[in-house]
Order: sequence, then C-alpha cells, then structure tokens
Amino acid sequence: MGLAVGIDLGTTNSCLAVVQGNKATVISDHIGRRIHPSVVSFLPDGTSVASYEARERQITDPRNTVSSFKRLIGRDFNGPEAMASLADLPYEVGFGPDHVPLIRVRDQEVSLPEISALMLRHLKELCSESLGAEVDKAVITVPANFNDVQRSSTKIAGRIAGFEVLRILNEPTAAALAYGFGGERSEKIAIYDFGGGTFDITIVELAGDIFKVLATAGDTALGGDDFDTVIVEEMRADFIDKHGVDLAGNTVAMQRLRLVAERVKCQLSCLEHVEATLPEIAENRAGRAIDFHFKMSKSRFEGLCRPLVDRSLDVCVEAFKLAGIDRSSVDNLVLVGGSTRIPLIRNLVGREFGVRPRVEINPDEVVAIGAAIQAFSLTRYQMSRPSAPPEPYAADKRCSSAPPVVWSDGPKGRESSGPLPAVLDVFSDASSDAKSCEGAGGEPPAGGSRRRPSDDFGWLDLGLSEPPEEPHVKAPRTSVIKRRKDVVHGAPSWPPMQQGDAFSVDIKVGATNALLLDVTPRALGIGTAGGFCDTIIERNAAIPVEQSRLFTTSYDGQTEVVVNIYQGESRRVSDNTRLGQVLLSSIRAAPRGEIKIRVTFEIDTDGILGVFARNEETGEAQSTRIVLSGGLDEITVRALVEKYASE
Ligand code: ADP
Ligand code: MG
Repeated sequence: MGLAVGIDLGTTNSCLAVVQGNKATVISDHIGRRIHPSVVSFLPDGTSVASYEARERQITDPRNTVSSFKRLIGRDFNGPEAMASLADLPYEVGFGPDHVPLIRVRDQEVSLPEISALMLRHLKELCSESLGAEVDKAVITVPANFNDVQRSSTKIAGRIAGFEVLRILNEPTAAALAYGFGGERSEKIAIYDFGGGTFDITIVELAGDIFKVLATAGDTALGGDDFDTVIVEEMRADFIDKHGVDLAGNTVAMQRLRLVAERVKCQLSCLEHVEATLPEIAENRAGRAIDFHFKMSKSRFEGLCRPLVDRSLDVCVEAFKLAGIDRSSVDNLVLVGGSTRIPLIRNLVGREFGVRPRVEINPDEVVAIGAAIQAFSLTRYQMSRPSAPPEPYAADKRCSSAPPVVWSDGPKGRESSGPLPAVLDVFSDASSDAKSCEGAGGEPPAGGSRRRPSDDFGWLDLGLSEPPEEPHVKAPRTSVIKRRKDVVHGAPSWPPMQQGDAFSVDIKVGATNALLLDVTPRALGIGTAGGFCDTIIERNAAIPVEQSRLFTTSYDGQTEVVVNIYQGESRRVSDNTRLGQVLLSSIRAAPRGEIKIRVTFEIDTDGILGVFARNEETGEAQSTRIVLSGGLDEITVRALVEKYASE
C-alpha cells in the first residue's frame, strides 16, 4: 500500500506534507525546498516541466508557461471571475464545450484539470523520491469558497495525476486541524489566509476533537499579486519621470518589473528600504539602452497598500456577522499564506482581532500539514494531542533576526550596521525563491547552495536556448543577447537568509480522530421563472447537508424538466454564478401539475454537490443528468487517467 500525503495545491505555490513516525512534517525536495511554485511549462519536444524549472521559463517562454491555473480551474469561461483573470495572463486561454476554459499551448488545447494534474504528478514524484516509497493517496486542499465545479475539477486533476483522492479539504479547515489537532482546546480561532491571488477568513470553533466552522468569507480578487501591482505601478511612474518612457506596452519589461516588484515586496517585510536595478530595461529615443534604478521605503509601501489590507478587514467583518459572534470572542489568530509576512498585515489584523497572531506557525506549511493529518486519519491510524503544542505569542524569529540595514544612496555609499548586502538574482537561480528574508520555504537550508555577495551583475543567457517564438512577445533587443541580471539589493547575506521555521505537529497513536464540521461557502439554489433564484441550501449551512424541493410539470404532456443550479445569495439569477443544470427526463406525459418530482441537493464531505430526483407518484428514482459548467465528463476523465498512466 502506498503512502498518503497532504497537498496544498496553491495558486502561487504548493506544499506537501506527510505523517510519518508520529509526526506531520513538510516534504522537501532534493535540495531542501519546502514550497514549490505552481507553474507548468510546455516544451517544444511535447513534454512538460513543472515547479521551479517551469517558473524559470516564465520569462523566456511566457506563452507556453502556465501559472495561476487555479484561478481558472472549474470556472465558466464567460463568467466574471474567469474574465477578470484572463487580462493578466501571458498565455492564451480559449474554451471548449460548456464554456470549459482551455489553455492553448504549442498548437494544442489543454484542459485545466490536466494542467493541475501535471503539477500534481510532479509533486507525486517529488514525494516518492523524497520518502523513498510509493505515494498514491492524497488529501488535496481547496479554498473554502471553491464551488462544486472547482472542487470536482480538482479531484479529477488528482485522479489524472494517479492519486486516489481521499478527500477534498478546505484550506482553512486544514489549517485549523494543524493548529489544534489533538490539543483538546476549547476556543474560537480565526484563520486569516492571504495568499498570492485570493484572500479568505474563516472562524472555527474548537471543542476537543470537534472542529466546527462557524463561517467563511473571502475575496477572490484580492491577493499578494495586488501588492506587486502597487509596486509595478510605482516603478512605471518612476520610469516615466526619470526617462520619459512608458513601459506599459513592453510585455517583457513589464514581466521583469513584476518579478522584481515581488522581490522588493518580500524584502520590505524585513527591511526599511529596498533598492533594485534592472539593467537595459528599455531604449531611449536615441536607441540607447537604459538601466533602471528603483528605490522604495517600507513606509511608502505601507501607505500604498493600506487600502488593500482594509479590504481584507471588511471581509472579516462580514465573516463575524455570518458566524453571529463578536470579534472579541476570538481567542487565537492563525495566519496562513505568504502575504501574511507583511508586517502591516500582521499589525492591522492583530489590532482588528485584539489578539496577537500565532506567528510561530509557518504560514506556508500549515495547510499542507493539516491535509497530511487528515490523510493519515482517513487511511487508518488514530491520533492524539501534539506532544509540544506551539507557544502562544512567541516573538517572530524569522523577521527579528534579520539585521537592520541603514540605507543610503547606492550600493557603494551604503552604510550598514549589519553585514554586507546580498544580491538576489531574479531569473537564473532556481533556489532563489521570492520568500526571501523571512519565509524562505523555497530557500535551501543553511549550508546548502549559498549566494556570493559579489555576484552582483552576472550574465544571463536569456532566450539563447530557445528564443521567444511568438511575434507579439518579441523581447527587446537587449534581452535576447547576454544581459545583466535584474537585482534587488538590500537583503542581508550573512547569516544566510532565514528559513521560515519548519512547522510540524506531533501525533500520538491511539486517540480518536478529529471530527470536522465544515460549511457551504455560498447559498445553492435553482433558477425559477422571471429570472429569480430560489435558495435550496443556505449559505453557511453545515455539511454534509441534504435539502429537497418539489417540482412539477408546467405544461401538459411535459416529459422533461430542466433545473438550473446557481450559487450565490442574490434573489436574481443574474447576480449569482451558474454552476450547471439538471435534466429530469423520462417523465410520464400527464396534464400539467400532475406529476410531482422531489429533487434533492446533497453536499458531501468533499463539499461536492450531488443531485437526486424521485417521482413522488411512483416512488421511483427519476433519471437525472447534471451538466456542470466547466466540468469534464466521466468518459473524458477516464481517457485522461489512462493517457497519463501510460506515459
Ligand atoms: P497561494 O496560496 O496563492 O499559493 P502563498 O500562500 O504561497 O499563495 O502566498 C504567495 C504570496 O505571498 C505571493 O504573492 C508572494 O509574493 C507573497 N509573499 C511570500 N513571501 C512574502 C514576504 N516575505 N513578504 C510579503 N509577501 C510575501
Ligand atoms: Mg494558499
């Protein structure tokens, strides 16, 4: 029997964990990296690469390199969420039957579950190599507000990757499990998750082994990327001021700004000032290459970002209202997601909740750890309290140990009360993950490959191995020849950059498993005449749940009824998300209103919807067919499972 692992399949990064030797720990790759960029890149020879290798190709081959695929999985191509994501994506997205989004790469169309499966398959191999054993079962986490189609599509991705998917688990519930498993705690906790592309907040009540979700709310259009955008816009404006050139239309330059902006942002989580150099970013009117030097202070960054943090706090207010509790009744605050390393977030959220965040829990790892505990629970064993529950209110070692840097004009004039500044190269070193000074889940451990402070301006072969082929992503002249690297100055180089403290949970054999009581993130209903929506399952209803409704025919001799399923609380269907439709067929032809059919909506422990219909007249099961927008049908899924299994 293969091992069961927990997988946090993130929009930006993924993380893996396993329970072994009565400990839930993160699985690292061969050079110690504990988080893995969620990126898949398709190569000219028809194969693909994933994670770090794929992330490196984001600049050299953006059209065939797919990131942020979690934003599209299970979405309706025409829906507002997919539409909003499409604008920023450097690769091409089309759609197939039922508006299923498809990615166009290298003359082929690939479905989102397949792309996710390629990432999951990479992670599966990584687990097997690292653990030295076969890994074939997984608990995969999804955001609490994922709808039915997104959940089923994720489950399908797991199957295509060769996993038996034991459970689709909500990310905040996994985080709560990692925090409180076996602790016999009796308290209310808030899980504040600010990742790369989305934000959500969940209130959980712990009572011994029972984990009851009281409410969950989120904003799918708010994430760490927005902080990057704030910096990119500053850079752009600064460049216009200094050089009179707007970089907006220059795809490659904008992509470089974005990558540097993210690193600047991460450095600002530890440092007061950060500067970056982007050599030969554009040409002036005389055709001469311009180098771009950019500086940003933490206070400027915080001023610009405050509205983003405030938006997250508004969502928290909504969650409290839903949970029917006051914020003062929250006993502990668990931070999840890379963006929670931003001190402004920690301070404002702590103040809002009136508690200090549990900073000793690694925000990148807590979800995967919870998923691993659940995987372990579901595959047999019984567990009990962690032997060493984390100390509350511990100082955040990750940031405080970064030496203070007094910043002045340029690298030469830098006064520093700390050690020499290091230089992070953005493009070429796979180990230099964005989570630099503090998070560093992606950093190799101390003693691993270490950057030399003098590596300031190395030479990077951009595109020589494979020049960008599409005309409209044509790189500027300077990027197809040897080019100096973009650098972000200001990170301490010695001691080597901190790794976020690895987070693990001890598990004792012999006690009971946790009981997870989750909720539906949004109401589920059906469309009725006049464009109205009739709610069948209320928002925040505890799952698993079952609710039914009687239907009847609306004209004489009607043998089929079409029921449209919507997600959302609005009375008008146009404000809600259409999930798909149920077709009730083979109905006996009879006068209008005579036939009564009971339709039951059932949400299982994976949060996945099932629809059943029964003829009230005969008591027989009525044949139903659910067509979910954005979903793949079973025949296609089986074919994909076989295709990938034979590769
Ligand atoms: P997801 O759940 O979407 O995969 P993660 O939890 O991995 O996302 O968070 C990724 C986001 O966190 C990115 O926007 C990244 O830039 C940001 N991030 C990571 N480390 C830091 C840091 N030290 N300071 C600020 N933001 C950070
Ligand atoms: Mg996440």
